[in-house]
Amino acid sequence: MNDVARIVKRIKDEDGRIGIISHFDPDGDAIGSVLGMYNFLKKFKKNLDPILKDEIPYLFKFLPGSDEVKSSPAEYYDLLLLLDASDITRTGFDNLKFGDLVRIDHHKTGTNYSSFDYLNENAPSTTVLVLDILRSYSEKDITREVAEPLYAGLLTDTGGFRYSRDFSMAFSAALYLSGKGIDCQEIAQKIFLRKKLQVFKLLALALETLTVVEDRIAYIVLRKEFFEATGTDSSDSQSFVTYPLSVDDVAVGIKFTEAGDNFWKVSLRGKNRVDLAEIAEEFGGGGHKNAAGLRMEGDENTVVSTVLSRILKALKSEK
Ligand code: AMP
Ligand code: MN
Ligand code: MN
Repeated sequence: MNDVARIVKRIKDEDGRIGIISHFDPDGDAIGSVLGMYNFLKKFKKNLDPILKDEIPYLFKFLPGSDEVKSSPAEYYDLLLLLDASDITRTGFDNLKFGDLVRIDHHKTGTNYSSFDYLNENAPSTTVLVLDILRSYSEKDITREVAEPLYAGLLTDTGGFRYSRDFSMAFSAALYLSGKGIDCQEIAQKIFLRKKLQVFKLLALALETLTVVEDRIAYIVLRKEFFEATGTDSSDSQSFVTYPLSVDDVAVGIKFTEAGDNFWKVSLRGKNRVDLAEIAEEFGGGGHKNAAGLRMEGDENTVVSTVLSRILKALKSEK
């Protein structure tokens, strides 16, 4: 049996409690994977908990099922489906108890090997891998409520079909999903064209920090006071790392977000020059070659200079 068939059988056989979970600070792919799987399995009267540690950002709340997502897990799951998260710690919960684990993911890095793994780092989004599972499970049950979150994950993880290791995978999944009664234009509009005015005020403050280093790296800094001044939070700045990356000639764009006292979230985006997942992993983070993340303790200057010097070193040693 291949990976997909084994996972389908394992889910079909489960009569107990199933948890469907993804990473904290959920992005469109995390939310889309959980909701696509949840809305599909609901049709089979399974005992299900969709779980995300942090709140779903308002831009994704239109997705069907989003108001049913729980913010904490039950004591025990007979089966836990871990989606778009390379290991259990990415869920943000340290007390998860479960029988079997199914892992469906497209990250380069990861641990928690499971005998029910469906992993493909070329996949443009985890929702595309979830779609493979669901197609094998029951094609006719891939209704609009299932297709819409899956498409949203694909749309956002590819940055609106701009980034992908394998565009044919992205386009063929998009073509399939577009035939399931979804309105692709409306989904794009709801996700990309509905920003609140405060988000632009936050962006203005962030862009004042935009700095280019040796014509190779550009970064922005989101300080806690910016969020306070504009009535926003870090989930409102998920897409801002595109700005430093958009600077001409820059190979790596970085966003530093102050997430607590002496605590920073760092988002890395690249243009295929260096492996950012490898660099992020050195600091306990992970991700993909061109999109990775990590968290770091320290004051602003130390965190910024530590990350910059590591990436400059990588860029200088590239062939
Ligand atoms: P972000 O910059 O937070 O949007 O994350 C970029 C990519 O790196 C996403 O695919 C994340 O899932 C992954 N990632 C971000 N932070 C971490 C982390 N601390 N550990 C592992 N992977 C991460
Ligand atoms: Mn994700
Ligand atoms: Mn993803």
